[in-house]
Amino acid sequence: MRTDQRVSGRTENLPVVTVIGGGLAGCEAAWQAARLGAAVRLFEMRPLVMTPAHRTDLLAELVCSNSLGSASVDRAAGMLLEELRLAGSLLRRVAEAHRVPAGQALAVDRYGFAREVTRTLYSHPAVKVVRREIQSIPDDGPVIVAAGPLASPALCQALSHLTGEENLFFFDAIAPMVTAESVDRSLAFSASRYGHGEDDYLNCPLTEEEYRIFVRELRAARRAPLRGFEAELDTGVRAGRGPFFERCLPVEILAARGDLTLAHGPMRPTGLVDPRTGKRPFAVLQLRRDDVAGQLYNLVGMQTNLLYTEQERVFRLIPALHQAEFARYGQMHRNTFLCSPKVINAALQSRLRDDLFFAGQLTGIEGYAGNIASGWLAGVNAARLASGQSPVIPPPETMMGALCRYVSAADPSAFQPMKANFGLLVAAESCTLRGRERHRWLAARGLTRMQEFLREIGLSAVTEVPDVRCD
Ligand SMILES: Cc1cc2nc3c(=O)[nH]c(=O)nc-3n(C[C@H](O)[C@H](O)[C@H](O)COP(=O)(O)OP(=O)(O)OC[C@H]3O[C@@H](n4cnc5c(N)ncnc54)[C@H](O)[C@@H]3O)c2cc1C
Repeated sequence: MRTDQRVSGRTENLPVVTVIGGGLAGCEAAWQAARLGAAVRLFEMRPLVMTPAHRTDLLAELVCSNSLGSASVDRAAGMLLEELRLAGSLLRRVAEAHRVPAGQALAVDRYGFAREVTRTLYSHPAVKVVRREIQSIPDDGPVIVAAGPLASPALCQALSHLTGEENLFFFDAIAPMVTAESVDRSLAFSASRYGHGEDDYLNCPLTEEEYRIFVRELRAARRAPLRGFEAELDTGVRAGRGPFFERCLPVEILAARGDLTLAHGPMRPTGLVDPRTGKRPFAVLQLRRDDVAGQLYNLVGMQTNLLYTEQERVFRLIPALHQAEFARYGQMHRNTFLCSPKVINAALQSRLRDDLFFAGQLTGIEGYAGNIASGWLAGVNAARLASGQSPVIPPPETMMGALCRYVSAADPSAFQPMKANFGLLVAAESCTLRGRERHRWLAARGLTRMQEFLREIGLSAVTEVPDVRCD
């Protein structure tokens, strides 16, 4: 096994793990591999080469939403976040330390979060962060490729060459952000749906007439031209047939599906009462706090590819946003992932090269929590391989195990990225519960299995029993 004397004076003779990409998956992978005794070289191309979405040179930068999903264990993301906590995830711990109020969601101050991950990895004696674009996959493993949905074109080409598969491209969209002071507080009200959380969202109510005008203008608004290969798919996009993630559709595409699609979707008013009228509004645009200081708010569900001028015009039709100042405009971006069922097994290990692992969005595992989880597993497995142990696969009852099984075993001809959801978990015939009760049962079962799994592989770092029971 290769060893490295160069990572730092204290890492002589440690097996070396190389990680490509210092995003959510790569940072978690690097930290876990180092925790298990490897010397890690983490290659991050920013700021020398930027992606179209990242803005900083920080590791683990969140490019869009600042929410890691619901932290409630009867939600799929919440179950996964709890598994990560049990597994001693670095990013899960840092997220908790930089949490901002967002109801039941684990939302973070994005800069505080990224700064602390960066600081932690730079100060780790067994991790060397190298700012360089990797254009070909190193021959000497173990190597973890975690270059994300915006992996540099040269690396994509190398991946295409290596795997023999063409990368699949599709669009993803980000929502605009407005400054807190520009929201008209006499027209917006603070509340979380059904009173969950502490009034963490700012809600912008619309009457039926206001809603219909908003939808009409949204449909008619001009969209930004797409560039490069994205333009090839332009026709389909404009016709609403683009290869989008269904859950991340641009709001203008969603609005084109029907007059009330938004009122039943991202602008649904359920669980909200406008204190000025004492009634439920016809529709609501929710704003979610994006930073600890509460100076920035995300327009929830409003990811868009409208021209910037059109974003201003159309979103200002919402009464509480009539003077909105845009801190960031919505955008659409390339998104890249491998045909994983052909390329990797459930240990996230290449089917072609034992010492090559993939993690993050590139594998088709969707969502911040899922990306962190895949980084955890790739880091653990690369370190195990480096020290002569076999890679492991978390049990199928865990959300982490279920996601890894999905991306390695789905039908390759129709493979699409997948985020955590209860449908992925192995069936529980003995459980006759329904709805959230069933989810709680599945979560309890999975978390128990996760603890057993961690004990089996000698990684039971967090020992507290999670706050759910498996009756
Ligand atoms: C525009 C956009 C919006 C998104 N919004 C959301 C959202 O709201 N919620 C959500 O859950 N997910 C969202 N996603 C998906 C999101 O990218 C992932 O959830 C998460 O960031 C992926 O983690 P990752 O580690 O795989 O990739 P990233 O976090 O992107 O990290 C990959 C890293 O690799 C680096 N890199 C790339 N190529 C190279 C190279 N050749 N050499 C060295 N370094 C390289 C990049 O600079 C980057 O730092 C969005 C994606 C995009 C593109």
